[in-house]
Amino acid sequence: MPDETTIRIAVIGSGPAGFYAAGHLLKDAAERIEVDMLERLPTPWGLVRSGVAPDHPKIKSVTRIYEKTAAHPRFRYFGNVTFGEHISHEDLLAHYHAIVYATGSPSDRALGIPGEELPGSHAATDFVGWYNGHPDQTDLEVDLLCTERAVVIGNGNVALDVARMLVLAPSELAPTDTADHALEVLAASRVREVVVVGRRGPAQAAFTNPELLELGELADADVIVDADELERGLAVADPAAEANTTSRRNVEILRSYAARTPAGHAKRIVLRFLRSPAALHPDEHGRLASVELIRNELVPAPAGGLRAQPTDERETIAAGLAFRAIGYRGLPLPGVPFEERSGLIPNEAGRVLDRASGAPLPGEYVVGWIKRGPTGVIGTNKKDAQETVDAILADLASAAEQGRPAPHVPDSPDAGAVEELLRARNPDLVTYTGWEAIDRHERSRGEPAGRPRVKLTRIDEMLRVAAAEKP
Ligand code: NAP
Repeated sequence: MPDETTIRIAVIGSGPAGFYAAGHLLKDAAERIEVDMLERLPTPWGLVRSGVAPDHPKIKSVTRIYEKTAAHPRFRYFGNVTFGEHISHEDLLAHYHAIVYATGSPSDRALGIPGEELPGSHAATDFVGWYNGHPDQTDLEVDLLCTERAVVIGNGNVALDVARMLVLAPSELAPTDTADHALEVLAASRVREVVVVGRRGPAQAAFTNPELLELGELADADVIVDADELERGLAVADPAAEANTTSRRNVEILRSYAARTPAGHAKRIVLRFLRSPAALHPDEHGRLASVELIRNELVPAPAGGLRAQPTDERETIAAGLAFRAIGYRGLPLPGVPFEERSGLIPNEAGRVLDRASGAPLPGEYVVGWIKRGPTGVIGTNKKDAQETVDAILADLASAAEQGRPAPHVPDSPDAGAVEELLRARNPDLVTYTGWEAIDRHERSRGEPAGRPRVKLTRIDEMLRVAAAEKP
């Protein structure tokens, strides 16, 4: 039986935010806290596994920190558990003193323009999941034979990841953990030009400096920036951007690209500014054939900064592929407050707020992108999770002052009972040992080719490997 002072916390989602929250909880709370992490997929790490570009292996090494958390004796991992299907909001409240939602922003944002649903038009989030072997996107049809030009909409780091992946040389892709199905399609690709389109100017781009610099160092692709268009995009002063070192450095890098003589590589990435897509047009077979762009000018925004205002000027670019990389979006969880407009769980410093009363819901917390929106880098989630964990610990302390173990006291705070429930609902539960078996299997498949791993991309394969290793 658990000690009456033991506090049991469920973390929903195993990406960086969930793992930082678990790590802080286990580190900061003396001996009292036990953490169970519940994850929809058999595999952990969220976007570190299925979002970070395969040619950025150093970024992925952050999982070593999460592995330390996972090895903690008061931590358990339950993979292949879908919230709302295998376990409900009520079940969690019955078994845990607190729930921490760390479900991220798994969906994409739409442009809301005609033709967006045409074959050949993709959400970047889907393409990213596909090349990273996310089981949801394994069967995505990505036709890289149909066209020589792709258009990527958006000026963030995801847009740059997508553009780079489309032009990487086979020698750059070979040593990565890109999913095998994607390696095959990328190797045969006919795409020679990727046009990255920003709706505002170069100073307003959301790229970070290393990612923008990387474009200039590709083995097989030139980066092209038109000097006149670049300077037109800088014509309206933006004091906020001028005060921002990342933005200033981006402008310097872009100017250096504009001054370059192309090396004559087989492929090119073209960076365009002050353009928004107005429509995607089909060919006679109903596939994407061209992207109609509208020219924007920059005008002061009511909330400060500059916004893009459309002009009457239009241009059409022939392209058989378009990727909208305009941001991720959160999805609601059954029974959990959700704000449709922002795509977030409403919260105050990580305390989930009741939609009707606006008051904090006892024992319910949130971290990461579903708390603050899809911004920042992986490390941003560390501080974000600390804020939420501080709120949890403060709430536990004030409940203790009132003679209660926690603001929310579950009926059945028993570690064995919840595991039994999960196993009864889903015999294919994957524990951390199961994930370690998948991990070893993937790494050993990658070894002969000098790759970090060859990913399993189907749930049934993952379950087979995890089950085979059961003691
Ligand atoms: P992001 O950084 O928020 O960029 C979104 C881009 O889409 C912005 O340029 C935005 O322009 C544009 N956009 C939004 N709505 C649009 C519309 N309707 N039409 C045209 N353009 C539109 O988002 P992200 O690229 O998805 O990245 C998400 C987060 O992950 C970011 O914090 C990013 O830095 C991070 N990330 C980091 C790395 C890395 O460190 N290597 C890699 C990938 C992602 P406006 O500015 O005009 O709104």
